[in-house]
Amino acid sequence: MMRLPKFEYHTPKSITEAVKIIADVGPAAQFVAGGTDLYPNMKRRQQTPKSVISVMRLAELNQITGDGSQGLRIGASVILSDICESKIINRDYPVVARAARTISTPLLRNMGTIGGNLLLDTRCNYYDQNYEWRKGINFCLKKDGDICWVAPGSSKCWAVQSSDLVPVMVAIGAKLRFASTLGERVIDAAGLYNDDGIDYLHKRPDELLVSIELPPMNGWQASYQKLRRRGAFDFPVLGVAAYIQRKDGLVSDAKIVLGGIAPSPVEIRDAATALIGKPLGDDAIQAAAEAAYVKARPLDNTDFVYQWRKQMARQYTVRALNELVANV
Ligand SMILES: Cc1cc2nc3c(=O)[nH]c(=O)nc-3n(C[C@H](O)[C@H](O)[C@H](O)COP(=O)(O)OP(=O)(O)OC[C@H]3O[C@@H](n4cnc5c(N)ncnc54)[C@H](O)[C@@H]3O)c2cc1C
Ligand code: SF4
Repeated sequence: MMRLPKFEYHTPKSITEAVKIIADVGPAAQFVAGGTDLYPNMKRRQQTPKSVISVMRLAELNQITGDGSQGLRIGASVILSDICESKIINRDYPVVARAARTISTPLLRNMGTIGGNLLLDTRCNYYDQNYEWRKGINFCLKKDGDICWVAPGSSKCWAVQSSDLVPVMVAIGAKLRFASTLGERVIDAAGLYNDDGIDYLHKRPDELLVSIELPPMNGWQASYQKLRRRGAFDFPVLGVAAYIQRKDGLVSDAKIVLGGIAPSPVEIRDAATALIGKPLGDDAIQAAAEAAYVKARPLDNTDFVYQWRKQMARQYTVRALNELVANV
């Protein structure tokens, strides 16, 4: 049985207290929400904080406020089950509830939070293993080693951004609010992710994710399609988020964002170009799907044959866009 190492545990009651603790303890500290990602990683000695600071008792992080007409603010510690069941989210932002429902299992959704999901560690077959397994291959670049087993000539880690909500948040243009002892900052979800499996977030470790801010619903629609081996639960090995806005029967704005294939979500701008100015019909959808296929470059470090996952980028883009045709 894998055991957690010893660590100090803090339970601050306010944002001010939480950010002060992490600033005082420094790099040896890490925030934890539901712990469904961090604790397994600690058991496998992939992440090794000496101090863990819970964000679950921070009242402001546990609230959902607003609605589709003014925009919705979701606290970072809201658990995924509450996202799945929220009447407002199901009515005004159904894509968010639907993507959340595909995450892990009901038990894990009762613990896991939206904030933890957006800040999930990147994943790789050579990394998501216990300590002894990783030691057996002399570790890898991401932790304790000096070679990438996926691309041995590479100085970069290709571990995969594997959250279901990340491509959705990037596609719909969500904003993320962070706090630290230096103050607050708000960034676009698209600006948070870095195309490097080790240094995968444009965020300092001492920054607390406070909330996720969804834009007002002014006619846009979005959908999410997930490829995984087991329908009951599995991480995405490809996720396609599609966002469109229509004017006078023509697509006036669009975004296609792929998750699960690279260290950061991949926005396919050529797919948007293929859609904008056209009715959302078969021709435009096929052209967008072709663009997604061309730009999707998964590597051999998660489930399924990677060339097949590339092929599936085409199919899943078609499915995601067809969902929006049906929703008119
Ligand atoms: C068996 C299994 C299946 C899973 N399947 C899926 C899946 O299909 N799809 C998917 O997307 N995920 C999946 N997950 C991953 C995980 O359960 C979810 O992503 C969950 O939402 C993570 O949230 P958490 O609160 O547990 O994160 P935690 O483990 O608490 O934290 C994750 C990371 O976020 C940081 N963090 C958390 N909150 C904050 C904050 N407010 N400010 C700053 N940093 C913070 C932590 O330091 C840590 O680095 C799975 C996990 C398991 C164990
Ligand atoms: S992509 Fe390479 S460096 Fe990154 S976790 Fe996998 S094997 Fe390690």
